[in-house]
Amino acid sequence: MRYDYLIVGAGFAGAVMAERLASQLNKKVLLVEKRNHIAGNAYDEYDEYGILVHRYGPHIFHTNSKEVFDYLSQFTEWIQYEHKVLAKIGNELYPIPINRITINKLYNLNLKTDEEVKEYFESVKEKRFPILNSEDIIVNQVGKDLFEKFFKHYTKKQWNLEAKELSPSVCGRIPVRTNDDCRYFTDKYQFMPKEGYTKMFEKLLNHKNIEVILDTDYKSILDSIKFDKMIYTGPIDYFFDYKFGKLQYRSIRFEFKNHRIDSYQETSHINFVDKEVPYTRITEHKKLSGQINDSTTISIEYPQNEGEPFYPIPTEENRNQYLLYKKETEKLNNVIFCGRLAEYQYYNMDQVVANTLKVFESKFK
Ligand code: FAD
Ligand code: UDP
Repeated sequence: MRYDYLIVGAGFAGAVMAERLASQLNKKVLLVEKRNHIAGNAYDEYDEYGILVHRYGPHIFHTNSKEVFDYLSQFTEWIQYEHKVLAKIGNELYPIPINRITINKLYNLNLKTDEEVKEYFESVKEKRFPILNSEDIIVNQVGKDLFEKFFKHYTKKQWNLEAKELSPSVCGRIPVRTNDDCRYFTDKYQFMPKEGYTKMFEKLLNHKNIEVILDTDYKSILDSIKFDKMIYTGPIDYFFDYKFGKLQYRSIRFEFKNHRIDSYQETSHINFVDKEVPYTRITEHKKLSGQINDSTTISIEYPQNEGEPFYPIPTEENRNQYLLYKKETEKLNNVIFCGRLAEYQYYNMDQVVANTLKVFESKFK
């Protein structure tokens, strides 16, 4: 069989590219996915208790891009959802990102205005310049105590590295607020797909020009198919047979548990920032979808090195190793590398969609 494009990986990068090539350019696409389902790490499904769960960790859609939002809106309706997270220290829960409520509760203060909180941060922060790592970026804003309480141990658990070994962009994802806004994100568009991510992907891929093969590593079919170009969205080191060594990725073991109670915790998502607790966060899945059910399913996250590659690890050494691979990609003119694993970047879903749309516009139109 002959195809115009072979696309490797049915996550956001692969599915969006397949949809564009098929619907806009009338190209014949073969999409190969090694797992037994589409949707990549955004995959969700109903568990045996009838609850919609995110199998690879909670996925919250948020973006400031109208283009990305409008594009995905062709394939799903949305429900309103603004993500809120609490961090647990000892037996107490505090809003994270750190805001006025966090500071007042933690230090038994009564700061009333943004100005007062700003002054508080001024009085405790430690000037760091230049900002070289994830410790600098937090300590420079809120000082050592808040860093140690909210970031130090969570970061060590999540990455098995100290914050000072990680790029500032990691902890820099979390803002610091002087107001009482408890939302995790402040993006303009914050929604969840009404029927879930997998259903959205089914619609994305529902086109006569797109053929999907599951349970298949693309390398196992390369000899039996013909195609003009490849879009590769898997791990870049695997593509090149690890010729510059294996890149480091962080993985997570998810422990799912169902409880025969209506509600398990105060919010969909609690971060365990204490050193003594071995896991990083617990998600209560029906609080993401608004589903009503008389039981509730949670997932507990234990970060680990083994397992599926979930997170590229943003250190300087890893970046340099990735650049060796990136250089190799420049020698290939019929393969495009796209997405979180192929570009070894800590991208959110909306960034992957935005980049994929950009690549499509610039390379194929
Ligand atoms: P992926 O979704 O990883 O898709 C790549 C696909 O390629 C996979 O399905 C894989 O099986 C397949 N593949 C790999 N190798 C091969 C091969 N050899 N042959 C065939 N197929 C192959 N983003 C947000 O915006 N909000 C969130 O709340 C959020 N939460 C997250 C929580 C966790 C725990 C994780 C891990 C990520 C989270 N993300 C979140 C990020 C989001 O998952 C990614 O941005 C997005 O899924 C990346 O899409 P992708 O297509 O690049 O990669
Ligand atoms: N982080 C932290 N404490 C928190 C939340 C986040 O130390 O309560 C740090 C940690 O290093 C984490 C990073 O900030 O990996 C980014 O957090 P985010 O919630 O964006 O992580 P993700 O959802 O991508 O796992």
